[in-house]
Amino acid sequence: MKFHVMTLFPEMITQGLSNSITGRAMEKGYISFDAVNIRDFSKDKHHKVDDYTYGGGAGMLMQAQPIYDCYLSLVDNNADKKPRVIYVTPQGQTFNQQMAADFAKEEELLFLCGHYEGVDERVLEEIVTDYVSIGDYVLTGGELPAMVMIDAISRLVPGVLNNDESALTESFYNNLLEYPQYSRPEEWMGKKVPQLHLSRDHTNVHQRRLAHQIQRTKHRRPDMYERYMIENPPKPEKPKRRRKKKNSTTDSEEN
Ligand code: SAH
Repeated sequence: MKFHVMTLFPEMITQGLSNSITGRAMEKGYISFDAVNIRDFSKDKHHKVDDYTYGGGAGMLMQAQPIYDCYLSLVDNNADKKPRVIYVTPQGQTFNQQMAADFAKEEELLFLCGHYEGVDERVLEEIVTDYVSIGDYVLTGGELPAMVMIDAISRLVPGVLNNDESALTESFYNNLLEYPQYSRPEEWMGKKVPQLHLSRDHTNVHQRRLAHQIQRTKHRRPDMYERYMIENPPKPEKPKRRRKKKNSTTDSEEN
């Protein structure tokens, strides 16, 4: 999976993603990313990339030309299939695990990070395929949101996590939060690891973990619990079979 990030602050992206799991995944070649400086594409003699907004209003706006030329340097505009271009913006759909899984299926993704008051609408109309937010608040720039999304998408790329299975039991899979987990020591500050986690008997472990997941989700995220219950309605109880009356003439098997 290849990530390209169009930004005015490329060091933020490279420094942020070169460590830990994403850093290792890059060294091993499971993912790659390049952070491209939009300023390098400015045709202004002072390398200006922003200007006042028409009609007034506070602050500066990123201009269309440097962003468009930066985009052209990354994609072949004549190609049949162009990569998805994500503009990170508080005005987008809120990012979630399902979207991360959907983006993880792509071979290549482009991110556009805004700054100041945002970006000239015309270049957005020209290149953006997805408008995505990381939550209902306003940040100073799109670099942190792009890193958040790249991190969440990367860990779903096969090979990036040592244990691919963990993504299937983690929070948000199937509208549930993960069950509580424990590590050594067996007792800490008088608190013992619950028997379920110590037992070597694996029968029913899945069922009991699921019960914990449901309980935790109901308590902490009632909105998710509601969705889980809609998708997994409780099975109707089997109707009790009526006992056959002894010596009944109608039901008699003797006839
Ligand atoms: N004036 C804009 C906000 C600009 S904030 C508005 O009212 O919508 C500057 C930049 O930070 C944006 O262009 C965007 O790229 C990024 N940004 C800010 N908050 C964000 C959020 N919640 N999610 C994703 N990107 C965000």
